[in-house]
Amino acid sequence: MLLEKIESLLKEVSTLTASNADEIEQLRLKYLSKKGEINALMADFRNVAADQKKMVGVKINELKQLAINKINELKQQTETVESQKDDIDLTRTAYPIPLGTRHPLTIVKNEIIDIFRRMGFTLADGPEIDDDLHVFTKLNFAADHPARDMQDTFFIEQSANDVTKNVLLRSHTSGDQAHYMETHQPPIRIICPGRVYRNEAISARAHCFFHQVEGLYIDKNVSFTDLKQVLLTFAREMFGAETKIRLRPSYFPFTEPSAEMDISCFICGGEGCGFCKHTGWVEILGCGMVDPNVLEACGIDSKVYTGYAFGMGVERITNLKYRVSDLRMFSENDMRFLKEFEAAN
Ligand SMILES: [Zn+2]
Repeated sequence: MLLEKIESLLKEVSTLTASNADEIEQLRLKYLSKKGEINALMADFRNVAADQKKMVGVKINELKQLAINKINELKQQTETVESQKDDIDLTRTAYPIPLGTRHPLTIVKNEIIDIFRRMGFTLADGPEIDDDLHVFTKLNFAADHPARDMQDTFFIEQSANDVTKNVLLRSHTSGDQAHYMETHQPPIRIICPGRVYRNEAISARAHCFFHQVEGLYIDKNVSFTDLKQVLLTFAREMFGAETKIRLRPSYFPFTEPSAEMDISCFICGGEGCGFCKHTGWVEILGCGMVDPNVLEACGIDSKVYTGYAFGMGVERITNLKYRVSDLRMFSENDMRFLKEFEAAN
């Protein structure tokens, strides 16, 4: 009789279910409390014959252990379910979430884009990981030309026998222009903003990545005069209506003739001060007429079309506009620095 009862209780206990803590407590009382079923067995145990006592005792212990394990198991199950129910993210910022500020480079980049958009330029985009063909070769950098050293970058794949197949991080956004010219015929009037990379030691004045906005205009009868007028308009919009510009001869592989553009110092108005190193002028960008070799390499007839191109560093313009003295501050994520630009939004 007692053995049968133990067997049936074993079966019963092994199939117990409960959906909350109250039900589990009820089960604990029913089986494991002083007045519970298992303790009740002990009363009958006294009447078991001496030679069977050991075997029955083992069975009762087995039942008791099963009941304890089962109830613990049920407890764990319901706790997991409960904790999944209230899915609270304790790392989340408390309300009200403070409003952030735009990054100074974004503010200035948007301002540059806005000025050129009003002059009819549209945005073009390109890959940050590009091939040598678009970043250098099509832009009139010969394979062994020292001009490549001016723009040493980071290589992802280097081809053993064909330099144009090298895969690299773009060193300027002019690569975007090469892609655009391949797929579009003039008139082309685009600006290409984006991040670029250079193999440079990081210092207050140089970084291994920075941002550019480059412009390209190709059409019939485009002349240097057009370039000068567009850049003068840009300089006056960006730095004030009194701004003067000057162009100094320079060299870039992809433009001929090429020039560096300075603006009159907006601190001293051209009188000469510490900021402009007492010259009255501050350098802001490079420009020139697109070399016919570039047009031909990108599938545009250089006998029919001419064009100009210019490129500026967003960091450079931001440094001038907001007097930031150390390039590294732009990428350090220091909230104290970023908060300075709250009002510039
Ligand atoms: Zn000055």
